[in-house]
Amino acid sequence: MSRARFLDAAKALDARLDAFVHPLSGPAGEHLATDVAYLGNPNAPTRLLVISGTHGVEGFAGSACQTRWLTEGITASDDLAVVIVHALNPYGFAWVRRVNEDNVDLNRNFIDFESSLPANLGYDELAGALVPDRWDEETQEATARVLLGYATEHGFPDLQAAVSKGQYNHPTGIFYGGTEAVWSRKTIRSISSSYLADVERLGVIDLHTGLGERGIGEAIAEEPDASERTRLEDWYAEFTVPTDGTSVSAVITGDILAALKRWLPNAETTAIALEFGTVDMVAASNALRGDAWLYAHADPLGPEALPIKAALSDAFAPGDEEWASSVWDRFVEIREQTTRGLLA
Ligand SMILES: [Zn+2]
Repeated sequence: MSRARFLDAAKALDARLDAFVHPLSGPAGEHLATDVAYLGNPNAPTRLLVISGTHGVEGFAGSACQTRWLTEGITASDDLAVVIVHALNPYGFAWVRRVNEDNVDLNRNFIDFESSLPANLGYDELAGALVPDRWDEETQEATARVLLGYATEHGFPDLQAAVSKGQYNHPTGIFYGGTEAVWSRKTIRSISSSYLADVERLGVIDLHTGLGERGIGEAIAEEPDASERTRLEDWYAEFTVPTDGTSVSAVITGDILAALKRWLPNAETTAIALEFGTVDMVAASNALRGDAWLYAHADPLGPEALPIKAALSDAFAPGDEEWASSVWDRFVEIREQTTRGLLA
């Protein structure tokens, strides 16, 4: 449904459309795809890239922003083109998962798999507690005590890092980065080659949900060099950088923004993840743990799925109007700051 609305809105603006069809289908047997809508001069030296659904279920909010933007009318020009990537992880989006078809967190997958994989000893220690064999109340309480014990011993930031920075040893765990480049990574690589290879100035907004205070949209930059940092300071009233310790996000391995910058070495790229807060971190992490358990140890279409999918929607795709309208207002603000920065 989200896809049809997006495509209708893009067609109404005569956007150039391109579909990257996913090999698997959705729960209703529907085709899955990542769609690209390109507006404006194909040779524009300056482009704005807006991505939704890097984390599957988080795409409900991102898709709504992209579609409303199209519906209200996007003003591309000879100087500034707009590239919208809709549902980069279409499988997770359709199946209401944050991860993809391989249980991979796409935003931990952009590492060099030819080199030794990043270690995460904290996760190794906590793996059995994070995604236990059972997910009854008793097990949830017992494993919560294990996690709390880790936080008491090492501090909460270390717990957050162990859980969420990315891990490569536990394929049925959470924040798993995979063993090779996944479909969505190859897809965004291909989009980058087709639509951005000759770009001179690029702004990137990758839309996320689930971290931070409810309704707040934190602009998070990854590994900015000195010149990108200067632009970030010029463009945005506020932004954070995980390696500075200023972000709601832990320092993560294998993120998409750093990858885009590596692929486009000649472009002047200014990239942020825009992270909209929903529920508190424990609730969000419990939703992901339950979902990982469901796929590892139960039937994702069985009766246990209902409360788990409801918790996942609460944490990553809230339905309430107030939240949706704060997301939209913040998206507009960040988009306008980005556009002004790109054209300055
Ligand atoms: Zn996300």
